[in-house]
Amino acid sequence: MPGGTLTVLEPATERVLRELPRAGAEETDAAVARAKEAFAAWRGVAPPERAAVLHRLADAIAERREELAQLEARNVGKPIAEARAEMEMVAATFRYYAAAPERLVGRTIPVAGGVDMTFREPLGVVGLIVPWNFPLTIASWKVAPALAAGNTVVLKPAELTPLTALELERIGLEAGLPEGVLNVVAGPGSVCGRRLVEHPDVAKIAFTGSTEVGRGIAAGAAATIKRVTLELGGKSANVIFADADLERAAAAAPLAVFGNAGQDCCARSRILVERSALDRFMEALEEAVESLRVGDPLDPETQMGPLISREQVEKVASYLDDEAPVAIRGAAPEGPGFWFPPTVLCPVDSADRSAREEIFGPIACVIPFADEREAVAIANDTIYGLSGSIWTRDGAKALRVARAIETGVLSINSNTSVRVQTPFGGFKQSGVGRELGPDALDAYTEVKNVFYATEEPGA
Ligand code: NAD
Repeated sequence: MPGGTLTVLEPATERVLRELPRAGAEETDAAVARAKEAFAAWRGVAPPERAAVLHRLADAIAERREELAQLEARNVGKPIAEARAEMEMVAATFRYYAAAPERLVGRTIPVAGGVDMTFREPLGVVGLIVPWNFPLTIASWKVAPALAAGNTVVLKPAELTPLTALELERIGLEAGLPEGVLNVVAGPGSVCGRRLVEHPDVAKIAFTGSTEVGRGIAAGAAATIKRVTLELGGKSANVIFADADLERAAAAAPLAVFGNAGQDCCARSRILVERSALDRFMEALEEAVESLRVGDPLDPETQMGPLISREQVEKVASYLDDEAPVAIRGAAPEGPGFWFPPTVLCPVDSADRSAREEIFGPIACVIPFADEREAVAIANDTIYGLSGSIWTRDGAKALRVARAIETGVLSINSNTSVRVQTPFGGFKQSGVGRELGPDALDAYTEVKNVFYATEEPGA
């Protein structure tokens, strides 16, 4: 089960991009068995050699970045300019973790009667489950540190977007990864993902996806006490104070929500604006939204493409029946393709459904606030805590608010969330654990403590 064919579409045209065999439980079990067998050898590969393979993998990705970017842009419907930047990050992620095998150092600890030392050991077979919005990027955040630490991997991409993960598997073999170290199963989450979560030979699940599926994974992992890293949903705040550079904040706000057509866990989909600056801000925001270039993902000028599926368009559209009025509506092509125009609701109340739920599409909610205290209260009035931004010229206020907002990743006078070198992950129901930066290596290793008695016999 289930077997059959996986039909992969191009969201901008609704045309079939590729058909491939759909993996099921049997293929998942076989992949885990291959990974288990490969683990014994891979963990023993000398660190400089493991590092060299990861460097070759980074080189191979860099060489093929245009081809991979085209594939990702067509399969996800994301603008080619974004896909190109993502492939740069994928190569940089493998490059960054290629340095890790030789730096996984332990400690010596002063104790009585001998020498005490710690080792960073790999976990074994790790199951990596990723979503469709940044398919290869998010896969690389997991695969690179997992392999660097000496684990072997079964990677399950989303059913809608398996193509670049399958390419990665091929590139890995060409770059010299031994057979069985990196295995990809392209099949449904309810079958292949679930099997990875339940499988007794899988030591850890690293999952990126919705909070709802994440809850099930945490519960399923409990049966075998698997380690879990969960990167889940978000409803992040973009807090704009009246003393900010309003032009800059308004120019940056649209792509902070509508980038990747709003299908971004870090989307700053709640724009909190100090009431005294609301009119000025909305005027500048309207201009910025209306000038967004929405259209063909393969056009280098495009800033926003279609959504991933018809189902996603319908889900996003359901938020327009909500309480809040539509203040700004940008342009979008007519069909075919899963298009939805960039849309701003204003004013939105923090209690409205559109302000509480992750829409995962191009709808932004503007919520006015009176002062700093109210801004923080609204920013924290959510079950999520993934990213966010603060715009102000007052440095002390920026830092006060940054410390008060319950979120994993914040930027001041910027909308960036992710860098290879820095930890990324959520507070509250946005997740458990951190990816990227040095923290990710902790998530793919266990600490072992060894005591060696040195006292002379009879002493
Ligand atoms: P999803 O939760 O539906 O699916 C994610 C992955 O889980 C897919 O590979 C899917 O096949 C698999 N899956 C589904 N059911 C499963 C099950 N029962 N057991 C095991 N695996 C299962 O998410 P999606 O729709 O692909 O992606 C959108 C969601 O991902 C949004 O909520 C978004 O916020 C979140 N996301 C989070 C981050 C982050 O880093 N925090 C990044 C990107 C996306």
